[in-house]
Amino acid sequence: MSLKQAKFYESVQANFKKAADLSGLPKGLLSQIEVCNSIYKMHFPVKIGNKFEVIEAYRVQHSHHRQPTKGGIRFSQHVNQEEVMALASLMTYKCAIVNVPFGGAKGGVKVSTRQYNAEQLEKITRRYTVELVRKGFIGPGVDVPAPDYGTGSREMAWILDTYTQLNNGELDAAACVTGKPVAQNGIAGRTEATGRGVYYATRELLLDKKMMDTVGLETGTEGKTVVIQGLGNVGTYTGLICSEEGGMKVIGISEIDGTIYDPKGIDVQKLLKYKKSKNTIIGFPGTKALKNREDWIGIECDVLIPAALESQIRKDNVNKIKAKVIVEAANGPITAEAENVLLKKGCIILPDMYANAGGVTVSYFEWLKNLSHIRFGRMEKRFDQQAMTQLVSKIESMTGKTISAREKLQLTKGADEVDLVRSGLEETMITAHEEIFTVYNRRKNVKDLRTAAFLVALEKVANDYEMMGIFP
Ligand code: NAD
Repeated sequence: MSLKQAKFYESVQANFKKAADLSGLPKGLLSQIEVCNSIYKMHFPVKIGNKFEVIEAYRVQHSHHRQPTKGGIRFSQHVNQEEVMALASLMTYKCAIVNVPFGGAKGGVKVSTRQYNAEQLEKITRRYTVELVRKGFIGPGVDVPAPDYGTGSREMAWILDTYTQLNNGELDAAACVTGKPVAQNGIAGRTEATGRGVYYATRELLLDKKMMDTVGLETGTEGKTVVIQGLGNVGTYTGLICSEEGGMKVIGISEIDGTIYDPKGIDVQKLLKYKKSKNTIIGFPGTKALKNREDWIGIECDVLIPAALESQIRKDNVNKIKAKVIVEAANGPITAEAENVLLKKGCIILPDMYANAGGVTVSYFEWLKNLSHIRFGRMEKRFDQQAMTQLVSKIESMTGKTISAREKLQLTKGADEVDLVRSGLEETMITAHEEIFTVYNRRKNVKDLRTAAFLVALEKVANDYEMMGIFP
């Protein structure tokens, strides 16, 4: 295990302890909340070419206080037990913060996706799913995986297909995994969900005058400069939505092959096309490549958004940071040691367990859709459309004035699934923001947003245990 990975779980534990000490909850209950309830480490053979390879993989269910448990599956050569335990723990707190009724879990498969073709990755994913089924570590009411680093809707479709083959006729089988393609029981708006949630979380923070005064920034998103590390699922949608909907200026992007910078702003949409055709972000017209990939961290900007992996901001590089606000789109990008340095400097850190909770929120909507066997909006869309059309016509006839066909269409449009999903996500992120900031603003001994978020989560998880009659 590398130092970085060991530090990740240690950081989660250190952050937990900081909040636990302020929570006033009984010690025994806190110990029960902190530990991982079930850890399944597996090794299985997969035939790659004409050789067998033994694959190491994990599924960790951190907390059974609510079931099913929920959390993504990571494909990376760095996967190890402590990393999956850290990620599973974060899932429990994340679900509690955004009022999603699941316990936390996470999966990890120790493979480098760059070393296998699609057919080989399919074999690995399907075999991993079989292992999960065999041990009862997957199912709509048991444990529901989703995408994470190195996986996406394609892998989720393979998981669903494998699970369905092994559970023929199970009525709710489609709810065994989320993040599926829309055509295969997925939900509109899931792919963008984590990035969209990151945007809503950032926007709510930037609108807070008291918080912005502490770092000397004007309120609002318009014109704020942003640097993003990682242009994968989360980083891509964060960049697109922050610029297209928030009017923010993405001035730096770091990827595996280097970091690019343009103080005038990078067009993320065009960069994605460039990356697809050239297989790199380096050389994108108008941008300059920085000398070292790691230099993204020191770019002067308003908001720094790490969206790649854990432990990217550490004691050894934290002093390079010039940003006033850091939004943790990735899980655990700042070590506990580095966080202390940043807090002393007055930096605002929006913690992962809130900032990137958009993915699990929309996964929850997908799970509900699968259980109800009906697309959101199917029942009410046309009804709402007709009611609004009648209302607009009535106003027109009463006032003697008419509006354009385009305006009419906008006013009378019934909500599609994606509209409802975005609305539900926005509501969720705003509610969670309010809950975290209520604790942060009211409790004098709470000095940072991560501790406030932890306290919100701990109280809810403790309440659940109390309802179960396990702890008085
Ligand atoms: P992804 O695999 O789609 O993308 C990650 C990107 O980061 C890749 O493009 C990769 O090349 C890049 N990268 C890796 N190491 C890098 C480095 N050192 N410097 C710069 N770029 C680097 O993964 P993702 O799903 O976007 O997940 C990113 C992070 O967000 C992870 O921490 C994950 O746990 C977290 N997260 C993901 C989701 C989700 O819905 N996918 C939800 C919540 C949290």
